[in-house]
Amino acid sequence: MEAILELERYKELVGENFIANIYQTAQSLKGLHICHFNTTAQGGGVAEILKVLVPLMEELGIQHTWGVVPLDPASNYFTAHLVDMLQGGEPGEIAEKDQRHFLNKLSEVARQIKTTNADLYIIHDFQLVPLAELVPYLRPAIWVCHVDTAHPNPNAERYIRQFLAPYAFSVFNSQASVFKEPPLEKAHVITLGIDPFREKNEYISLEEGMQLLSHCGIDTARPLISQISRFDRWKNPWQVIDIYRIVKQQIPGVQVALVGAMEAADDIKAKEILADLQHYVQGDPDVHLLYDPTLIKHAEVNAFQRYSSVILQRSTREGFGLTVTEAMWKNQPVVGTSATGLQVQIIDGYNGYIADDTQTGAERTIKLLQDRALWKKLGQQAHAHVQQHFLFPMMIRSYLDILARGIWRSPTGEHQAVRVF
Ligand code: UDP
Repeated sequence: MEAILELERYKELVGENFIANIYQTAQSLKGLHICHFNTTAQGGGVAEILKVLVPLMEELGIQHTWGVVPLDPASNYFTAHLVDMLQGGEPGEIAEKDQRHFLNKLSEVARQIKTTNADLYIIHDFQLVPLAELVPYLRPAIWVCHVDTAHPNPNAERYIRQFLAPYAFSVFNSQASVFKEPPLEKAHVITLGIDPFREKNEYISLEEGMQLLSHCGIDTARPLISQISRFDRWKNPWQVIDIYRIVKQQIPGVQVALVGAMEAADDIKAKEILADLQHYVQGDPDVHLLYDPTLIKHAEVNAFQRYSSVILQRSTREGFGLTVTEAMWKNQPVVGTSATGLQVQIIDGYNGYIADDTQTGAERTIKLLQDRALWKKLGQQAHAHVQQHFLFPMMIRSYLDILARGIWRSPTGEHQAVRVF
């Protein structure tokens, strides 16, 4: 009974009918056992979502388990190369030998997966897409792609497509990311959402926020611009520094923070990016590179998102960008880019800004720093936009609707027809 109250809490935010609809859809899925797999238990958007989704589904009577498929360093290099290609940043092909090596490794790891006897397997992350092919008992299955595949290298797209046949559905975070040529059959979109009740998103007072920022080395008497994101080339941290440098010419007291706790086991390139940035900032004491996971926890992320003077998100590619949703929820108009996931969330000039080039990004930042009434108005509109479109219940409903479209095994191993909405 207590558990059901978790979902009830969202009523005040999304309305009674919305929650009633979730209960109704969940009713037809009761008794199913669904098992999720991804590559990491900590760090990044997928882990964030699963941490909330799994317990919430349990309370709806849909059994959920979550398994992590750890990859070795060589496989992580393959993965890093593949994501660069998938997001359209690198030309060329995936070498036959690398592919074979990765698939051998993945098969090895997959053999160690204990049978969970789930009725449905949900495989997250592009690198795990071969699992349904390699491990036939991991079916029926749904594959969820979380990266920005709006402009993929065709060879990388072909590599992924060869593994899609065993999947009942493929799910993307935005319509723009669905593979187009030829049109992908059985594709769906789940727009992501944030949980306002998590520590990272709950209200903290200005005083508490300032204490947390101060503890991270920020001078709270001066303006602060921040980007909260993993240290990743696609998050374009260099442009954050470039924007800061332009802003500093007009507002000398400004500081900048790049906040990205290094905790994802598969984030092998983060260290390289950080080293590059340390060189790039040339010892400027007003540039704060914050990466220590023992320092940057949820409360600190909350404080930076809520109490920075302006939030930037300079990604050149973004599947969705939960950090933007989180900041918008905290009344921040984000100075973003036209990356796929950011376009889904930011309405330029209404609840934030979309500006790709450095100069325009800097001008928008200066405007928001100087005109706090405008910053406040856009920030309120950002909050309202998230409340309408990108809270966890919206994602849950979309997730359940997709589950309800399929026919999955019942817990007894027999096939059970699930109502199609
Ligand atoms: N995040 C965090 N600590 C950090 C940086 C990011 O907890 O130092 C969280 C952030 O709050 C968000 C998630 O990691 O919930 C990142 O998700 P997003 O979709 O923005 O990007 P991804 O990392 O999945 O590419």
